[in-house]
Amino acid sequence: MRKFDGDRLVIATHNAGKLREIAALLAPYGVTVSSAADHGLEEPAETEDNFAGNARIKAHFAAKATGLPALSDDSGLSVDALDGAPGVYTADWAETPNGRDFPMAMEKVWSLLEAKSVPEPRQAQFNCTLCLAWPDGHDEIFAGLVHGRIVWPMRGTQGFGFDPVFVPDGETETFGEMDPARKHGMSHRAVAFDKLVKGCFA
Ligand code: IMP
Repeated sequence: MRKFDGDRLVIATHNAGKLREIAALLAPYGVTVSSAADHGLEEPAETEDNFAGNARIKAHFAAKATGLPALSDDSGLSVDALDGAPGVYTADWAETPNGRDFPMAMEKVWSLLEAKSVPEPRQAQFNCTLCLAWPDGHDEIFAGLVHGRIVWPMRGTQGFGFDPVFVPDGETETFGEMDPARKHGMSHRAVAFDKLVKGCFA
């Protein structure tokens, strides 16, 4: 396992919600972070059908373009009764000609569950795969998962993406209602991050 021994890291994402959460999770490690947007990077096409493959594409693209180590996050929501959909295509379900519309995407998930009369609890998982890539082509991959259920109506204005309809196991609040620090203590991203820190920052 390669250690991160630099002091600058590019967060290879254009997603403001992920950027905010990753910067908060990295804050204790004294690393100066910049975003893909700070470097004027394009978003590479996510052509793989799995989280690790797409995380690799994003991290290597940013590391090569900037000459700095880069950390990417590929994540998504997998709903059991929808055979794991939207999964790697979670962001795509929110695409519209005018940008991403997450309330519309959450409604789509809910409507599909209603149409199938899926009994409660409507189990789902959030997945997060992090890829730390270096400009020489080396990388390290870490995955995290949080189990929970889909609820309706949407609740809460914290977080991002599908947070307002996801209640993690053992909790009553959605990720959208939870204080961000609390979400950071239990989320799929926090689980993957813990492995990244133990593997590359410890
Ligand atoms: P991608 O990794 O760029 O393919 O996008 C993943 C998508 O999954 C995001 O756009 C969000 O919609 C969703 N997602 C990932 N992590 C979270 C989270 O922590 N909360 C809510 N939605 C998330």
